[in-house]
Formats: sequence, structure tokens, C-alpha cells
Amino acid sequence: MKESGLACSEPKLPRADSGGKVERTHWPAPEDRDETKYSTIRRLSLFDRRPGAASGMTGITLLGSTGSIGVSTLDVVARHGERFHIVALTANRDAEGMAAQCRRHRPEYAVMADPTAARELGRRLSDMSRSPEVLAGTEALAFVAALPQVDCVMAAIVGAAGLLPTLAAARAGKRLLLANKEALVVAGSLLMQAVVDNGARILPIDSEHNAVFQCLPRGFSDGRGIESLGVERILLTASGGPFRDTPLEGLAKVTPEEACAHPNWDMGRKISVDSATMMNKGLELIEACWLFGTHPGRVRILVHPQSVIHSLVQYRDGSVLAQLGNPDMRTPIAHALAWPERMDSGVDALDLLAIRKLDFHPAEPGRFPCLDLAYGAAAQGGTCPIILNAANEVAVDAFLNRRIGFMDIPTVVGETLQQLPREGVEGWEVEQLLEADRQARRVAEQNLTGCVA
Ligand code: NDP
Repeated sequence: MKESGLACSEPKLPRADSGGKVERTHWPAPEDRDETKYSTIRRLSLFDRRPGAASGMTGITLLGSTGSIGVSTLDVVARHGERFHIVALTANRDAEGMAAQCRRHRPEYAVMADPTAARELGRRLSDMSRSPEVLAGTEALAFVAALPQVDCVMAAIVGAAGLLPTLAAARAGKRLLLANKEALVVAGSLLMQAVVDNGARILPIDSEHNAVFQCLPRGFSDGRGIESLGVERILLTASGGPFRDTPLEGLAKVTPEEACAHPNWDMGRKISVDSATMMNKGLELIEACWLFGTHPGRVRILVHPQSVIHSLVQYRDGSVLAQLGNPDMRTPIAHALAWPERMDSGVDALDLLAIRKLDFHPAEPGRFPCLDLAYGAAAQGGTCPIILNAANEVAVDAFLNRRIGFMDIPTVVGETLQQLPREGVEGWEVEQLLEADRQARRVAEQNLTGCVA
């Protein structure tokens, strides 16, 4: 276990009663960054084969514990109390949910990104014996991601807000269970290099990427990249979301409730809308390029309505390996927590006789403009994925708050991409990436005004 440079250099953490103000965190610059797009891994193993727990219990920081992935993670962890210990839980505003989790899982730290919510959490836990230390603000998220007693960090904050603590975990050399795909979309090169430079490990949580990881040969862990392992193509499956068969003219009128009613998966609201527009698959395309050191041309999207095959790897010799399972995120979570071992996840065994039939289709052209935008941004690289992601976060939030219609989402994202120039991001520090993110949000906000819900 490594000492955290971040934890040492950031002693002034805000407590719940401090109003959330802290001094700016110093982010050490990674050295010797490889600028090759989507392929930064040459020297160290990303998907290292060492068992997670060195000895005794594995200490976990769970970023985004009150969300869908967070709750599923706590469910899996609770089944293996002898093996895992929750060091820190974090959320944004849900003080009630966090208080209940603290009573049940007894972490050492509870962090609320929102200072008001942190004060409320402190009040809610005031009667608890040995209550956790309550902290507030974004620097506190990074602090608990880098604590020396933490072996494993589940990165399950939604959106680019998860970038800084995810990066802090990588820089502290943690085993990083990555659900927060937006962090890779915004800062793929920086994050992957931080993993390599600091001996951290990424285990993918997104079911598709976890499936690909399970289908890759063990040789992948030496960082040679998938082409050198005989991989021809990655096939990412997509359910097609709730509107796969909705007539195109009906899409403009769909409501947030309809968009969030995914046919197979129970997820947070943002990723549910992303699944409905298939922007989620576009973000996953970029995520796959970074995780597996490949380029968009080697990644295909396959619509598979049953969500039983979670993804496939096609090899040069004609073999295609797939990972199958019931659509329940506890499977990839348990896989990553236990890896390279296997442990019970609470998920029922797959009953292929009950399923009987698996279907596959190409993504219908014109139905999912967000997917086309994502392919374009992935191919262009530079700031384009940052702009894509930021504009999408703004547009999805506006849709969920009924400010714009469903089909305005690709319009806002497309306009924002057109209005901002592509810049190369080689050598950029995190603050420059975040400034590009903020700029794209400002432009996307302006583009909302032309849309009416
Ligand atoms: P949810 O919306 O359910 O949960 C998000 C979590 O992040 C909550 O704990 C929330 O706290 C916290 N959070 C939100 N905003 C901030 C912020 N600004 N600062 C700090 N914390 C914040 O999301 P999901 O669990 O569905 O998704 C999490 C990530 O995992 C996403 O990147 C998603 O793409 C990815 N993922 C999710 C899957 C799923 O099945 N849900 C599958 C594959 C990937 P609060 O509750 O207080 O708002």
C-alpha cells in the first residue's frame, strides 16, 4: 500500500461545519506522458494479476455510494463482511441516504460534496456512537480516495464531477474499480498515465468493458495492447434502450419518466437517458479505446435487446469470446472486487433455457444521432470528447428538468461541437481539461435557449 501524496499535501480538509472552503489542491504533474491517442500503456500492467487484498481485509472507498452502482456495491460488500471494510462513503446531496448507509456500514469517513448536505449529515449522525468523520467538498472526495488505509476505490460518481477523486485514486496507486466512464472520456490520457506511473490498476465496472476484460487473454496484463494479442475487434453490445422500436416521429415527445424506464437495467437517471439516446454507447466506445489501448475503428456496436451477452472479443483466428450473465451490475462489481478470484455476487445463475433466444441487430442509422456524434468525437480526439461529454451532461440535465425535449439532446451536443474548435490536449494538466469542460458547458447552456420542451 502506498502513501498518498495528495493526502500529505492537502491537510486542510473542510469539516461539515466549515462551509466547505479549503485551499486549492496541488496536483502533481505526471512525468513522461505518452501522447499516443488511446494507447498510453507500454511499461506496466494495468490489469495486474495480484490479489487485491495484500493481507487481512481490503479497505474500500466508495465514491458515489448513494447511487445505483454505490448501492449495488454495498450489497456485494455486505455479503463478504470478513473480506472487505468500508473506509469511506461519499455522495453529493443525499444526506438521508448517506446517514442510513453510515449506520449500516460504519465507515471511518463520510463525505458530502455539498457543504449544506454535509452539515445536515452531521446533524443526522449526532446520536451515533463512533460516528464517521464527516467532511465536505470536492477536495475531501480526493482525500478519501487516496487514504493510505484504502486498497480499493470504487469510482461511481456520475459525470465529469468524478474526475478529480478518480485521478487522486490512480495517483495514489489504488486498485481502481471504474464505473465513472466520463472521467476517461474527459481525461483518458492523463488518467491512464497516472495509473501506469503510480502502479495503480483499473478494473472496469461498466458491464460491457468488464465483459471484454473477462474475454481477453491473460497476456493482456503485460500491457502489449489488444492487437498484439490477436484481437481483431471488440464488439460492444447495446440493448437499444426503451425507444429501440419507437417510431422516429414519436421520439420528440418522450418524457423523462419514459426515457428513464430502461427495459433491462435499473440505473441512475443520467445514464438511463444516455442509454435511451445511445450516447452511453458512444461514451463507452471512447472508454473502450482508452481501457484497451485501441482505436474507434476496432470497436463495433451490436444491438442485442436481451442484454444477456454483455460484450464480445473477436480474434484473428475466427474465434469470438463472449461473457454472458443476467443484467445485474452486482456481477461485474463482484468480479472486480474479488479479481482474480471469484466470489458470490447475489445474482441468480443465467437460465439459457428460459431465455431460449438471443437477437442481434445493427444500430439503425438516423435513430441514434448521439452515437454518430460520439463516433465523430472519438475519431477526432483532442478536446472533442470533452465537449461531447460536457454538452451532453448539460443537455441531459435540461431534459430531466423538462427544459428541452428528448431530441433536443443531440441538437445541443452537435451545435456545441460545431461552435467550439478542436484543440489537441497533449501535455495538458487536469485544470486545462476542466477549463475546456467548463467552456463547453457555457456554450451548451446558451444552446439550450433555442430549444423548447
Ligand atoms: P447515480 O445517479 O445513481 O448516482 C450518482 C452518485 O454520484 C450518487 O451517489 C450521487 O450523490 C453522486 N454524485 C452526483 N453528483 C456528484 C457530484 N457533483 N459530486 C460528488 N458526488 C456526486 O449514478 P449511477 O450509479 O447510475 O452511475 C454512476 C456512474 O457509473 C456513472 O458514470 C455511470 O455512467 C456509471 N455506470 C452506471 C451503471 C449503472 O447500472 N447504474 C452501469 C455502468 C456504468 P447523491 O445521491 O447525493 O446525488
